[in-house]
Amino acid sequence: MLRCPLSHRFPVFHAITTGSAQVLLQSNADHSSMHIEIAPVEGLPLIGEGDDLPALICDLVSFEDGDILCIASSVYSKAKGYTRTLASITPGERAERIGGMCGEDARFIQAVLDESEDVLLEEPFVLSQVACGHVGVRAGVDQSNVEDGTIIILPPDPMAATREIREQIDTLTGKDVRVILTDTCGRSFRRGQTGNAIGWSGMTAIRDFRGDTDLFGHVLEITEEAVVDEIAGFANFVMGESNRGVPAVVFHNCPRWTGHDALYFTADEDITRAALKKMIQ
Ligand code: GDP
Ligand code: MN
Ligand code: MN
Repeated sequence: MLRCPLSHRFPVFHAITTGSAQVLLQSNADHSSMHIEIAPVEGLPLIGEGDDLPALICDLVSFEDGDILCIASSVYSKAKGYTRTLASITPGERAERIGGMCGEDARFIQAVLDESEDVLLEEPFVLSQVACGHVGVRAGVDQSNVEDGTIIILPPDPMAATREIREQIDTLTGKDVRVILTDTCGRSFRRGQTGNAIGWSGMTAIRDFRGDTDLFGHVLEITEEAVVDEIAGFANFVMGESNRGVPAVVFHNCPRWTGHDALYFTADEDITRAALKKMIQ
């Protein structure tokens, strides 16, 4: 029987962190070179409405064709003015009721309800689906990294947003850059938030392994990999959550993949949503 360490046949990744917070992932298998460089975009100012985020990023980054640019949705929303002040919001009866149950400002809850197309859970926090299909705690409405009394809402059409950013970068640099908008999200069953992709352009959300065979020749029947979320997750790690001031991250030399964009379950497929909705009926 042939015995051969897996590392001789398949890429093994090493993460190296340097002082400039660059992360290098390098395969040790010569025949299969996957060598992805991940760099924070450092030096961006505090972003406000009207700022040209793609232009600011292009001033700091020397893009190459195929690079993936991840941008935190919070800064995209600030640049586009997708923010509200709490003082301008008058909460309705439902927001007052949920605010009371959750111990949250009813005006904030009203903003969350305004963004929600489908509320799946009212307490201990609001969980809802927003217009683009993303399901998020508090509909992704955010109170961090913005002035007191202001809240950030998710971009209403993040897919269109990434397409537009991609075109702007093409116009500015002539480079074909793939773009992901990220947001930090909680998840079911596990503690800890991770980055999720809420919009993407130049790639499919899912890498489809169905039809491939595993190491033992079994045909994979259900394996689909949500690559945009994996990349968003690592970008989120590089950004951090607090005051690092890094709302954009570039992945260089990341391979392409094929698949499809049906990232969100349809209502019929989504058994978790069906179970949650029963609780608030
Ligand atoms: P979210 O995950 O999209 O909600 O974004 P976060 O609020 O977690 O911010 C992600 C990263 O962007 C963190 O490193 C923040 O410090 C940084 N950040 C947020 N707003 C700004 C800004 O206006 N300017 C800069 N330079 N960095 C920001
Ligand atoms: Mn957020
Ligand atoms: Mn975040």
